[in-house]
Amino acid sequence: MDFTNLRAAYITLGCKLNYSETSTIRRSLEDKGVATVDEKEEADIFIINTCSVTDVAERKGRQLLRKIVKHHPDAFVVVVGCYAQLHAKELVEMEGVDLVLGAKDKFKVAQYLEEIDKQPTHDVIGGTIGAAIQSRQPHSCDVFSLSDFDLSCSFGDRTRSFLKIQDGCDYFCSYCTIPFARGRSRSATIRQVLDAAKEIVRRDVKEIILTGVNTGDFGRNSSETFLDLLRALDDIEEVARIRISSIEPNLLTDDIISFVAKSERFMPHFHIPLQSGSNKVLKLMKRRYTRELFTDKITTINAVCPDAFIGVDIIAGMRGETTSCFDDSLHLVENLTISQLHVFPYSERQGTEALEIKGVVSQAEKHRRVEVLRSISESKLKSFYQRFEGQTRHVLFEGTSESSKQKQATISGFTDNYIRVTVPYSLELTNHIVPVLLTKECTS
Ligand code: SF4
Repeated sequence: MDFTNLRAAYITLGCKLNYSETSTIRRSLEDKGVATVDEKEEADIFIINTCSVTDVAERKGRQLLRKIVKHHPDAFVVVVGCYAQLHAKELVEMEGVDLVLGAKDKFKVAQYLEEIDKQPTHDVIGGTIGAAIQSRQPHSCDVFSLSDFDLSCSFGDRTRSFLKIQDGCDYFCSYCTIPFARGRSRSATIRQVLDAAKEIVRRDVKEIILTGVNTGDFGRNSSETFLDLLRALDDIEEVARIRISSIEPNLLTDDIISFVAKSERFMPHFHIPLQSGSNKVLKLMKRRYTRELFTDKITTINAVCPDAFIGVDIIAGMRGETTSCFDDSLHLVENLTISQLHVFPYSERQGTEALEIKGVVSQAEKHRRVEVLRSISESKLKSFYQRFEGQTRHVLFEGTSESSKQKQATISGFTDNYIRVTVPYSLELTNHIVPVLLTKECTS
């Protein structure tokens, strides 16, 4: 198959993990000679990396697919990601979808295109019906048989690089479908991560974000630990900045907190899923900690790493979350010294244990609870930003795609402790870490 005449566009929905995987798929096709074009341009192939964390994410995926098929009727449409793994059959029956690859095969797009090319009755380009006979089989897999780990990382499309170090999850929280989409917990070796990190910084990337499904579970099937990995990465002088994308509270040890606090390379930034401040609801969710353990982690961070940004995930309206349970959550987050809440309305997920829990919270009440938590988050973020006004902190200014450089009046980036800073545009700033005096103007 002559890949060199092909143009491919890539669209990613969902998490940092998906972005790192799309970037790896893109490079595998670029290595074959396929040109990358923007999703707004004409393309012969569209690769859509989907998300299935909520029903809204799935709906967005279907809407996007219909839009692409409508605007690019001749394009060859490939769907990968969690939605492709969980609902491959449904997707393969969608009009215009040509290839659906689940968790095991998502990195084999080029191989599948070559396979399809060998079919006598087709022409991949131009999307003739005949083309997809072979490909219109759903290529999902038994995710729980997956043991291999596919390392992936994003570069060439952003200033900061998402480095996937872990995949899958063994926790089976009652509301979550991710273990069914990505399989059991597995991870890279420290050697593999170090090699990838060196490769990334060779491409002038200044910041690496360690990502995974249950990132702190790194090394689960080996003698290597997450802290071992952090220490090994800390020795790579070429890496300017590293962030931990998120970590479960029960895996965030005091050793990890004090390590980050002392490290020059690891940024003072913690993203920790709480999900609920009620022990009754945490039990219903099958989470592996109590509100007391969570509070201890926050107290330790504030004690040993006082400038740290602390982002906290919380779900509102989980089945069984009575008004008094919600009040417990409210009371807890109001009294925690944290920087921001990421608030998610509980989403009913097919095949999850949560569906057996009594006490459904009405849409209206769920919406009210989300709004209450979001307003608390706004005031917490505001006071966190205000704390650092008048201080000078180092900001990594993010580059933009060539085309918009001309139009740009301002440029933004993040401080070490994740404060967003925006200043008048200057090309010299892109992808550079510079000290900035933080003012109300540049941080609002
Ligand atoms: S820890 Fe729980 S919520 Fe997070 S991915 Fe695993 S099962 Fe899902």
